[in-house]
Amino acid sequence: MIDKYDLIVVGAGSGGVRAARIASSHGAKVAIFEKSRLGGTCVMRGCIPKKLLVYGSNFKNTFQDALSYGWSLNDISHDWSILINKKNKELDRLEKIYETLLLKSNVDIYNGEAKFKNINTIEVGDKIFKADNFIISTGGYPKKLDLEGGQYCINSDEALDLKVLPKSLIVVGGGYIALELANIYALMGTKVQIIHRSKKLLRGFDEDLVAMATETLKRAGVIIHTETEINKIKKEKEEFQVYLSNNKNILSDKILCAIGRIPASDNLGLNNIGVKVQKDKSIYVDANLQTSKKNIFAIGDVTNRVNLTPVAIAEGHALADKIFSKKNKAIKLDNIGTAVFTSPPLSSVGLSEQDAIKKYKSIDVYESKFRSLKNTLSNLKSYTYIKLLVNRVNNKIIAAHMFGEESAEIIQMIAASIQSGATKEDFDNTMAIHPTIAEEFVTMNNLSRRY
Ligand code: NDP
Repeated sequence: MIDKYDLIVVGAGSGGVRAARIASSHGAKVAIFEKSRLGGTCVMRGCIPKKLLVYGSNFKNTFQDALSYGWSLNDISHDWSILINKKNKELDRLEKIYETLLLKSNVDIYNGEAKFKNINTIEVGDKIFKADNFIISTGGYPKKLDLEGGQYCINSDEALDLKVLPKSLIVVGGGYIALELANIYALMGTKVQIIHRSKKLLRGFDEDLVAMATETLKRAGVIIHTETEINKIKKEKEEFQVYLSNNKNILSDKILCAIGRIPASDNLGLNNIGVKVQKDKSIYVDANLQTSKKNIFAIGDVTNRVNLTPVAIAEGHALADKIFSKKNKAIKLDNIGTAVFTSPPLSSVGLSEQDAIKKYKSIDVYESKFRSLKNTLSNLKSYTYIKLLVNRVNNKIIAAHMFGEESAEIIQMIAASIQSGATKEDFDNTMAIHPTIAEEFVTMNNLSRRY
């Protein structure tokens, strides 16, 4: 007998799981298919394991700070395998939670790779399933380096689960993943070198933040080769010889390729059923997240628009509401805060200064760079930098950028203010919590530049 559902969700990452649970809460009969682990990229191979390793590696700076505060720390050592094992136990726990949530929501869970036979039918192994509606939430996978020896590179999935701490690591790329992993391993004591094809890291980010992140990575011991490419990689016993475009060679234990991700649309059989897949392998969707077939929808990274977990979750939720209830909530994709979890992290909401001046006629730029109270006693040469961009036409805050401790936590709330239409005056009229780092945002009177 063929199982028939109101909704089949393909891919049990954060977005897919949310869509399945919400659809089921509206009374729909729902199944979800996953070929790997419940939780998907963010929970199993991305944000969560990454952040746990960030916490682990940040103790290096905490210990240095502690010395400045009078602690004496003798015989400090680190066992990488403990961190990796504990991280993996936490992932197992989270996977179980995802399973329980789905089962409690009456969603049927199937393990396997789903392939469309027609617009109402998928095949998983030798089993056939039918549904009126489908949501594709298969995410993406790491891009590979297409050159001689490229097969020797590890990807971010593997870099987040190395059983032995490498002595040396080459990181290819200059985006989120490259910087976050370079930072983790450098703090853990690995000799890290970044090979980046462009002149600057973190394309699209505010240039002041990029400069500070670059400087901080260098201070953590990371060697950064910009405007450099890899020509070929050769295996030499247990190490790899990396031949660079500047005619230099570097020997390294491991090479991490972090040059972006590809939407996972390959093996779904979409061509057979007329679902439009674009050149970059992303599934085309309209404003309603509908693909070129009326009953098939796609959300999250597989659509390659805003590749962030909270966006996929919001899309999955809104879509399930829309299909199975009368709710029709538009998702706002403006003013999305983002962070790069280096140490300290950098975080932004809104356009970079460089992009803002192209879009707006008249802008005021407020800046502040300071040593937080905590850092006054510290030996670490760390500082905090904040920047506010204000539209002079209506005094509204259009962007905020921050480099420094807790920047992601702080920018999250600035994003809420910007989304609510806050003006510079609203910030100025807000009483500060003293002494904090975030208070600088409501006491900013240093107008640095006007455009
Ligand atoms: P990004 O798109 O952020 O960065 C890719 C980097 O690789 C860029 O520096 C790019 O250089 C470089 N690159 C691209 N193609 C090549 C190539 N053929 N050869 C050499 N270098 C190349 O991708 P990531 O892999 O870092 O991350 C993927 C996505 O995951 C992000 O876009 C983000 O959406 C998400 N993510 C979010 C995180 C967060 O929110 N903290 C953390 C991790 C991932 P160039 O600048 O020259 O184009």
